[in-house]
Amino acid sequence: MISLNNIFSESNANDSESNNFTRQVSNACYSFCEPVKPCSPLLLSYSKEVADKLNIDTSNGLSQQWQAILSGSKIAEGSKPFAMRYAGHQFGNWAGQLGDGRAINLGNIVHNGQSLELQLKGAGPTPYSRAGDGFAVLRSSIREYLCSEAMHHLGIPTTRALSLMTTGDWVMRDMFYDGHPEKEPGAIVCRVAPSFIRFGNFQIHAAYQELDILKQLADFTIENYFSHLLEQDINKDTYLAWFKEVCESTADMIVHWQRAGFVHGVMNTDNMSIHGLTIDYGPYGFLDDFDPDWTPNTTDAEGKRYRYANQPFVAHWNLVKLAEAIYPLIEDAEPLEKILNQFPEYYESQWQLMMANKLGLDKVIEQDLKLFADLEQLLSMVETDMTIFYRELAKYKGQLDSVSGLLEDAYYSDSLPDDYLKIRNQWFLAYSQRLQQNTISHDKKVSLMNRTNPKYLLRNFLSQTAIDKAHTGDYSEIDKLLEIMRNPYDEQPEYDNYYKKRPEWARHKAGCSMLSCSS
Ligand code: AMP
Ligand code: MG
Repeated sequence: MISLNNIFSESNANDSESNNFTRQVSNACYSFCEPVKPCSPLLLSYSKEVADKLNIDTSNGLSQQWQAILSGSKIAEGSKPFAMRYAGHQFGNWAGQLGDGRAINLGNIVHNGQSLELQLKGAGPTPYSRAGDGFAVLRSSIREYLCSEAMHHLGIPTTRALSLMTTGDWVMRDMFYDGHPEKEPGAIVCRVAPSFIRFGNFQIHAAYQELDILKQLADFTIENYFSHLLEQDINKDTYLAWFKEVCESTADMIVHWQRAGFVHGVMNTDNMSIHGLTIDYGPYGFLDDFDPDWTPNTTDAEGKRYRYANQPFVAHWNLVKLAEAIYPLIEDAEPLEKILNQFPEYYESQWQLMMANKLGLDKVIEQDLKLFADLEQLLSMVETDMTIFYRELAKYKGQLDSVSGLLEDAYYSDSLPDDYLKIRNQWFLAYSQRLQQNTISHDKKVSLMNRTNPKYLLRNFLSQTAIDKAHTGDYSEIDKLLEIMRNPYDEQPEYDNYYKKRPEWARHKAGCSMLSCSS
């Protein structure tokens, strides 16, 4: 029998209104509401690894019983579905109440001592749906499903995805926000994480002066997910230790993003997990050519707040907002500021270590900082594929005349300007000299680089190919990409044709280089 528990809803303040209609909710962390029954659900794909974590038997695939639960057709034993209430800063502006507008939490499963929460995204309206319909379309669900798993296999902290289903219902979407809505297939992703608590969950209680509830939620979060910080009763120092840990796990996550060239696209405070997990895959993307100013989100095209190079700064800004939200628990700004002020230094040190790994260096020495900065400069001088560049770099053995051959496939243009080649030569000369001081063997260096620099990435154009096929009823590319992205650091020569830069047709195609929030 499938059975879930409800630790979040049983331990936190609930909404006294039980009818499901859009509204402003007060004095509550969540509202009970049930998924809409889909007309003809179909399982497209599931993640075996996530099923294993939940102790779900998949020896004969995902059971009918599970499929019914994951499509919202049936409520599991013990489950009391609910939507969370949270607020947030969107693009730097306070947006007030947001909440789970189309995510419905089913409850938790405990297995091997770990408690994991299951959440259906796209299962229908909730009190927090505002102007939305509560549903999700197939294209965005494929992207969330695949990227959740791809990020995990890249070693990047993330919420996971158990399943991808279509509902059989149609959803209207104006994909380009140009007054041409179209019917698209509805879909549901079951997301899995220790919890889906975001910075915004704390912000809402602080904003509306619901301080008892704020404390209850913070204590719940610490007791359940940061219990190693508990010595005696929870006091101000516990909150500070917790905040410091959130700052560090957030910084660690961003370092991973920068390593792989991941750009989230919508780093609003409601999209920041308290666990330092990547959450809410919308108009995200991986850098093809290394462009620090790139943002995949069309809504962000003007201000470029969420561009690649700005992600660490936005994370810091978001942490300031979290600090403001939990301030009433501490009532002392100084220690919070102190922790916040440590963020840039902590981030920088972790970033440097990561860069050393990317270059196969044993440690960071002072001259490396120039080497890293010059490299980023070099990569952005001409359109250079970030992934191919770093992956091929592992093959470099110190011979300057081998560079052109090694990097042949990394460029988006056929001809490279002379001044660029000159600067490239200078950089490789400096890198060669640095390698001579490296204390690790060539083989160890290669293996370090190859487990830091992925060969396979879920590039937007690859997802788009799977989406285009899925819209014709062929879902095979979804599982194929899932399979390839399971081992992104392995050579997998049978999939060599997925190790390639963005083709020209994808340069300006919707869904490939730029995406809207419409999902
Ligand atoms: P996002 O940009 O996906 O992080 O969403 C921001 C807010 O809008 C969250 O409160 C979402 O739950 C809500 N939202 C996004 N899409 C929908 C939708 N189709 N229906 C209802 N709410 C939505
Ligand atoms: Mg969101």
